[in-house]
Amino acid sequence: MKQDDCIFCKIVAGEIPSQTLYEDEKFKVILDVGPATRGHALILPKNHYANLYELPEEDAAEAMKLAKRMMIKMTEKLNCDGFNIVQNNGEVAGQTVFHFHMHLIPRYKNDGEILKYVAGEPDQEELAQIRKMITE
Ligand code: AMP
Ligand code: ZN
Repeated sequence: MKQDDCIFCKIVAGEIPSQTLYEDEKFKVILDVGPATRGHALILPKNHYANLYELPEEDAAEAMKLAKRMMIKMTEKLNCDGFNIVQNNGEVAGQTVFHFHMHLIPRYKNDGEILKYVAGEPDQEELAQIRKMITE
């Protein structure tokens, strides 16, 4: 499964060069060309799925297992102090390449607040309403 105009499909196929950290029959892990921090990498499934909504559950589980293995190895080798796993779905969520991917972002002391958001302050009633919407 491949989409002709997809940059990550081209990377998977070797038509666009990448710095590859890992590869198996289902996934490729590459360095991000616009890294948030030193060593920022991306897990790409070899098949084209636009996002997590489309990715089969089994592949999602395998991607998360691979993320854990990569995180451990990268932490050892890069000597980072922490790690973010980020995964964007949809333009409004910050997705710019519409081929599912997971960001592996090594974190270093004093590397800046790269993923900060402002915490809301909902009251209990609002939280209860949202719970109802999701669960009922
Ligand atoms: P997202 O905003 O979650 O869709 O992330 C897309 C990521 O792909 C960004 O962090 C880009 O820097 C990265 N990216 C785009 N083109 C390439 C490329 N040719 N090789 C490696 N990373 C890329
Ligand atoms: Zn693709």
